[in-house]
Amino acid sequence: MFDVIVIGGGVTGGLVLRELTKYRLRAALLEKENDVCMGASKANSGIVHAGFDAAPDSLKAKFNVLGNKMMPQVCRELGVKYKNNGSLVVAFSDEDVKQLNELKARGKKNGVEGLEILDKTRLKETEKNISDEAVAALYAPTGGIVCPYELTIAAIGNAMDNGAELFTDFEVVSIRKQRDIFTVSAADGRSVEGRIVINCAGLASGKIASLVGDDYITVNGRKGEYILLDRESGDFVNHTLFFTPTRLGKGILVTQTADNNILLGPTAEEGITDTATSTDGLAFVIEKARKMCKNPPLFNTITSFAGVRAYSDKHDFIIEESKNVKGVIHCAGIESPGLTASPAIAKYVAETLVGGMLPLTKNDKFNGIRTPGYFFKDLSIEEKNEIIQHDSSYGKIVCRCEQITEGEILRAIRENPPAKDIDGVKRRTRAGMGRCQGGFCQPYVAELIAKEQNKRLDEITKSGKGSYLLTGVTK
Ligand SMILES: Cc1cc2nc3c(=O)[nH]c(=O)nc-3n(C[C@H](O)[C@H](O)[C@H](O)COP(=O)(O)OP(=O)(O)OC[C@H]3O[C@@H](n4cnc5c(N)ncnc54)[C@H](O)[C@@H]3O)c2cc1C
Repeated sequence: MFDVIVIGGGVTGGLVLRELTKYRLRAALLEKENDVCMGASKANSGIVHAGFDAAPDSLKAKFNVLGNKMMPQVCRELGVKYKNNGSLVVAFSDEDVKQLNELKARGKKNGVEGLEILDKTRLKETEKNISDEAVAALYAPTGGIVCPYELTIAAIGNAMDNGAELFTDFEVVSIRKQRDIFTVSAADGRSVEGRIVINCAGLASGKIASLVGDDYITVNGRKGEYILLDRESGDFVNHTLFFTPTRLGKGILVTQTADNNILLGPTAEEGITDTATSTDGLAFVIEKARKMCKNPPLFNTITSFAGVRAYSDKHDFIIEESKNVKGVIHCAGIESPGLTASPAIAKYVAETLVGGMLPLTKNDKFNGIRTPGYFFKDLSIEEKNEIIQHDSSYGKIVCRCEQITEGEILRAIRENPPAKDIDGVKRRTRAGMGRCQGGFCQPYVAELIAKEQNKRLDEITKSGKGSYLLTGVTK
């Protein structure tokens, strides 16, 4: 029996779970996939938005600005990479310049600090590779970048270290309430019981809402395709560069990532929920990147990927108690800036919504500090030697592109939430995220997982659900 059951192991559910463990509550997280962070939280731009874009008085505006302020501290506590790089919305016409002024006024209303319009000369001084066609930009010094999967995994791991329980491969298919107790059941017949249910199911948050009769919440998908460049080009731009926004969102951006890659994208394809990339989508990304910057180093492309935004018909976040069933809380339609907003959403959900239903007593044993998942390559030779003396597995580099050691991979398989497959190790350590995309390290990572989990090699998957690497033993 749990006090609170959270459905969905993305950044929203993850940070809500962690926030709950600050109180004396028994909390559980139910995730339909074999690992956490398998939805929008694993494939997005990783921007900590300043907050000038959302309509004033919307939940998006409120939680964006609050989340932006909270993010550096949360990342420090969780050992997650965050950089305050600042952002620029770049204008290419008089019409765009008008929009910059509107965004600046809106940002001021939303409480965004330090917004400034740069003229062409200052813009060129600020970003050396900006297109000669750019005429001005809105500079937001509070904009930042964060590693979204590191944040999600670290938040859930920290919550588990503080007593929360994780159930993976738990696809919620029914929620029933009897005498104030919810029974939440999975497709495979397992069930858990709890007093409060929090719906953080991303793209499926409308579907989960309908399980308790809340058919008024509808959530749709909007796909975004990306191109990722190698870290070798990491200083091509320093700020996050946006075009002026449209009805479909913030448009294609050019940005550094928290890991010092360059990211181009995303597209905005309404109603599409698969995560395949397409020739047309990537061609559009390239066209826009070439409009924004002089000679983007596309020769350094290492991969492409796509993510799906979950947007509601309200075009705002839905963060509220169910209108039909007491004890159910919805965090639905959490599209961008949901990553930025997540620490603020989590605090509000725990303190105000859960706190309005249950007495909250502080958990004096809560420890919010977590050491970074991968770190070895950034240490000095002396520090490296000291660690290797205690644990020789740190003396063996497995991923040569990203310089990730066996010690870091073993840690990812052993610590909360444990990596179960190749991509799980990749998201936790970056092994396989470099130039060769796992071509060299993947077999050895598979061996380590098999050994740690006492499995055969042909039982190891790339990313759950039958994605086996090997078909069996040959003689
Ligand atoms: C292309 C793109 C770019 C973006 N860029 C930014 C950005 O730069 N900055 C920013 O602030 N935000 C950005 N966002 C938005 C941000 O990524 C999302 O708001 C955030 O990740 C949403 O997190 P979530 O936890 O609500 O949903 P998700 O991460 O989708 O998590 C939902 C989880 O629920 C699980 N689930 C689903 N159904 C069930 C079920 N029946 N039972 C159990 N579990 C279930 C899923 O498997 C998933 O793990 C972007 C989004 C996209 C797609």
